[in-house]
Amino acid sequence: MADCLFCSIVAGDIPADVVHETGTTLAFRDIEPQAPTHVLVVPRRHEPDAASLAAAAPTDLVDLVEAAASVADQEGLGEGYRLVFNTGAAAHQTVFHAHLHVLGGRPLGWPPG
Ligand code: 5GP
Ligand code: ZN
Repeated sequence: MADCLFCSIVAGDIPADVVHETGTTLAFRDIEPQAPTHVLVVPRRHEPDAASLAAAAPTDLVDLVEAAASVADQEGLGEGYRLVFNTGAAAHQTVFHAHLHVLGGRPLGWPPG
């Protein structure tokens, strides 16, 4: 999709530190990490958020979670990690291409701020 940051990263038009990829997903380090490991797993297909992805391509949503688990394994997050879909501006979604945050490598408090 034109003018979508994550579509541009998926297309290779904008560089990213890619850590994992599959036929349907791409995972790369967040440019502003909030934890020692902070990776974004995105579907190659453009959908604005996780719910839209679930409706349009449910297996892609499963692929995202599986890719996130592979990333957590690769990053040595066996003690635990957090998966987050910020959904909507009020929940701090800033990029409207579905993405799953993988956070870990430090104790993660609850509830989140
Ligand atoms: P959101 O706030 O929409 O849940 O998450 C968007 C994430 O994308 C943010 O954590 C932000 O730091 C990250 N981000 C924004 N621009 C870029 C970029 O150009 N490259 C990478 N790797 N991450 C980005
Ligand atoms: Zn997109």
